[in-house]
Amino acid sequence: MKFEFLGTADTGGIPLHMCSCEVCEKARLEKTTNRSTSAFLELDDGSVILFDAGCDTLMDRFNTTPIRAVFLTHFHADHCLGLIRLRKSAHHIPCYIPDDQEGFGDLLVHKNNIEYRILTPFESIHIEGVEIVAVPLEHSKLTQGFVLFTCKKRVAYLTDCGGMRAESLAYLKKQKLDYLFLDAAYTPSFDSDKHLNWESAQALIEAIAPKKGYLIHASCHTLLGVQKRGVVLTYPYIEQGFCLEV
Ligand SMILES: [Zn+2]
Ligand SMILES: [Zn+2]
Ligand SMILES: [Zn+2]
Repeated sequence: MKFEFLGTADTGGIPLHMCSCEVCEKARLEKTTNRSTSAFLELDDGSVILFDAGCDTLMDRFNTTPIRAVFLTHFHADHCLGLIRLRKSAHHIPCYIPDDQEGFGDLLVHKNNIEYRILTPFESIHIEGVEIVAVPLEHSKLTQGFVLFTCKKRVAYLTDCGGMRAESLAYLKKQKLDYLFLDAAYTPSFDSDKHLNWESAQALIEAIAPKKGYLIHASCHTLLGVQKRGVVLTYPYIEQGFCLEV
């Protein structure tokens, strides 16, 4: 199976509107766009399980691909905007969500072909031999990350995370993860409990101790901060299209 990122950036994405920083100019030259953080697991029969649905490219990339389910971390626009179109799908699609009654826009009012199913903390779902477990995270909206267990690998997708409670940390440490993808939206000088920065994220990866750790959900300003300060990261920021066999 394949686990791939459709995007690894923050809400504004890269290149950012009217930004002339080096990161954005390079993206324009290379004709790459990185909009929002989201990923998908491609099953052996070609169908997919989506992790978040905020990327602009979602409807094009999977226009004729069966979507087994969507696992939504939370109802911020950069993670759920794609559901506004996807709900009109000719197929019925289950969407696993945290227990957030507010949702986003009119998604929970006009559900169309999306069937929302609330996940409780640490609840697990089995789809075609893959187990997916919801792990509560701290953020400015009710948020969960996901740990995926395939027959070969253990992968944690933890985006939009300003920290986590002791029970989530203890759970993640116990899983002996192969890969951990963690929110590092900010530079260390920016103090916030909404997102981690590259220092706090790297410390958390050290504590969880996966075989490999990666940083996600960066803005151009964050990536520029790494370059300008000459920071050597133990765990790298990844770009859209990053892909692993799992
Ligand atoms: Zn920029
Ligand atoms: Zn968010
Ligand atoms: Zn986000």
